[in-house]
Amino acid sequence: MLNIVLFGPPGAGKGTQSERIIEKYGLKHLSTGDIFRANIKGETELGKLAKSYIDKGQLVPDEVTINMLKSEFKKVENPKGFIFDGFPRTNAQAAALDEFLTSENTAISGMVALDVEESELRERLRKRAEVSGRTDDADPNIIQNRINVYKAETLPVKEYYQKQDKYSEINGIGSLDEVTARLFKAIDSL
Ligand code: ADP
Repeated sequence: MLNIVLFGPPGAGKGTQSERIIEKYGLKHLSTGDIFRANIKGETELGKLAKSYIDKGQLVPDEVTINMLKSEFKKVENPKGFIFDGFPRTNAQAAALDEFLTSENTAISGMVALDVEESELRERLRKRAEVSGRTDDADPNIIQNRINVYKAETLPVKEYYQKQDKYSEINGIGSLDEVTARLFKAIDSL
């Protein structure tokens, strides 16, 4: 299986690029943010819990997120592989994912990170807020909180994969097609 972790700060373009990657490589897209939003829309218990964190720009607790991801993974029959988008976001999630994939007789092929500078991220999130209807994009304070959480809790996940020699980084600035081409190249050399 080809199992890719797509990594990058909020607004880096993970969602958009994921769509192109799943199409080319026939992978299943597992976006924890999308799954939480679907649960919020469906007003499930999980959705209510997740919303209380997401609306503040905080992370949903690891245990909740990990259990949800495992159950979504298990729903997929005969997968060719997965693209993990927005997960793992903490070192504890990364370790839990490794352990889980080992029990499923597979492993992460590599992490590919989209590098985008902070001023550009803020601008993209501001524009996205106008069309996405996402409450966590609408408020500059919440955006700042997400960027802070990213730096404190999520950036260390990069080192987790670097230590395993599974990390590659590409420039996330440029046209959508340019970024896609760089991503395909990075994935092809995993
Ligand atoms: P973005 O990349 O724009 O921050 P996501 O859609 O990936 O957006 O995530 C939205 C929110 O959902 C996050 O700010 C966080 O509150 C929650 N979330 C998503 N993935 C995780 C995760 N792996 N662990 C904890 N919380 C998560």
